[in-house]
Amino acid sequence: MRIHCQWALVDGGVAADVEVTVADGRFRAVEVGVAPSPDAERRVGLSLPGLANAHSHAFHRALRGHTQADQGSFWTWRTIMYRVAERLDPERYYRLARAVYGEMVRAGITAVGEFHYLHHGPDGTPYTNPNAMGEALSAAAADAGLRVTLLDTLYQHGGLGADGHRPPEGVQRRYCDPSVDAWLDRIDNRAGSPLDGTHVRLGAAVHSVRAVDVDGLAAAARWSAEHGAPLHAHVSEQPAENDACVAHYGLTPTALLDSAGALGPRFSAVHATHLTADDITRLGGSGSTACFCPTTERDLGDGIGPSSELVAAGANLSLGTDSHAAIDLLEEARLLELHERLRTVRRGLHPVEALTTMATVNGHRSLGWADAGRIAVGDRADLVTIDLSSIRTAGSSAGGGGVALAAAVFAAGAVDVTDVLVDGVPVVVAGHHRRIDVAAELEQTINEVLNDD
Ligand SMILES: [Zn+2]
Repeated sequence: MRIHCQWALVDGGVAADVEVTVADGRFRAVEVGVAPSPDAERRVGLSLPGLANAHSHAFHRALRGHTQADQGSFWTWRTIMYRVAERLDPERYYRLARAVYGEMVRAGITAVGEFHYLHHGPDGTPYTNPNAMGEALSAAAADAGLRVTLLDTLYQHGGLGADGHRPPEGVQRRYCDPSVDAWLDRIDNRAGSPLDGTHVRLGAAVHSVRAVDVDGLAAAARWSAEHGAPLHAHVSEQPAENDACVAHYGLTPTALLDSAGALGPRFSAVHATHLTADDITRLGGSGSTACFCPTTERDLGDGIGPSSELVAAGANLSLGTDSHAAIDLLEEARLLELHERLRTVRRGLHPVEALTTMATVNGHRSLGWADAGRIAVGDRADLVTIDLSSIRTAGSSAGGGGVALAAAVFAAGAVDVTDVLVDGVPVVVAGHHRRIDVAAELEQTINEVLNDD
C-alpha cells in the first residue's frame, strides 16, 4: 500500500509531498518531496504519527455531562463514578469500552494505556476467570482497532491517613485483590495478554500511595523490572495526598515511590501536579515520564503541574485523557502549553514540535510500544490525517508546514481527524469508523449502565 500525504510530520518537522509505503503493518519506505505514485492513495491535509493516550479509565466516559450537573462538585463526580463502577460486569464493560475505544480511534488515538482497577465482582469476589474484566478491555480494544497496554492495577486499601491505611469500603472492594501475591499470581497467569503482544501489552500500575502500601509499591516495581514492562501510578494529584503521605511516612509520594525502587525510564507519574523541587529532581534524574491529563485536571480542579520544570530536569512528558471529560489528544497537547502560560504568565514554553512528541513518541514509549509514534522506516504504520480546510483550520496551509502543525495542535480537534491507519489497517476512513457506529454504541451502552437494573 502506498499513501501520498500533502503534508506529513517526518524527523520532527513537517515536510510536503511525503509518500509512505506500508507492508505487514509497518512503514517500509518514507520518501519526502516526491510526486504521487499512480497507485498511491492521497491524503489531503496534515498526516501525523499515531497518537498515544497514555492514561485512560474507560468506564469514566459514562460520566461525561452527568458530572457537570449540580455545578459539578467533587461529590457529584464521585457519586456517579461509584454508581457506574457498581453496575459493570465483563459483558457490559466490553460493550462500553468498545464504544469508548471507538471514540478514541476516531480522534486519532492508535494506542491507549488502560489503567485498569475494576477487577472483581461487586463484593470483591473474583469472577470464575479472575482476569475476565481485563480480557473484556483487551477484546474491546481489538474490536475498536487500536492497541492497548493493559496496566493491571494493584489496589489494596481504601485511603491513607496519618495513622496508616484504611480498609476498602463499598465499591472499592471490587478493586482489591486479597494480597499482593494474589495480584502477582493473577497478572502472571493472564491468558491472551502477552507481555510483548502485537496488539495487547501487559503493564503494571499502583493506584496511588493512598491505595497501595510500601510493600505493594516495591513488589510492583520488582515485577516491572523483571518483565521490562511499564509501571504507572497516580502521583500527587491533590495536596491532600501529599499531606497524608508526609504525615505517615515522612516522605512525599514521589520520594516514597523512589525509595521503593519504582522510578526510572519505565515509570510514569500520572498527573504529577503538586510536586516539590526534590520530587522534580527525582523524576527528571531517573528518566521517568510525567503523564499530564489537562482536560481532566481542569475538570476536577486539580491544579496545574510544573511541566517546564519537569522537562528541564530531564523528565519526559506524555498525555492522557484519564476521565474522558474530553477524548481529544490535540486538546490535551495545546492545554499543556496554554495552562503553562497561565501558570507562568509567559508564552511559548513548550514548542509545538515538543507538544507533538508528547502526544506521539513519548506516549507510546511510556506504554511499552518502542516501535511506534514516528513516521519512519521500520516503525508501526500508524497514520493520522488532519483536515486543514475545516472551519477551524481553513487558511493555515497557506503558511507552510510549520503553520500547518501549529494549526493542528492549537486549533484543530478530534472532529478534524479524517483518516486513521493503525498497524497498516485503515480503521477510520473519511471521518467514519469502519466497524463501529461510535455515537450509537456510546448512547446505548451509557444509558444502559446509568439507568438499567
Ligand atoms: Zn486516573
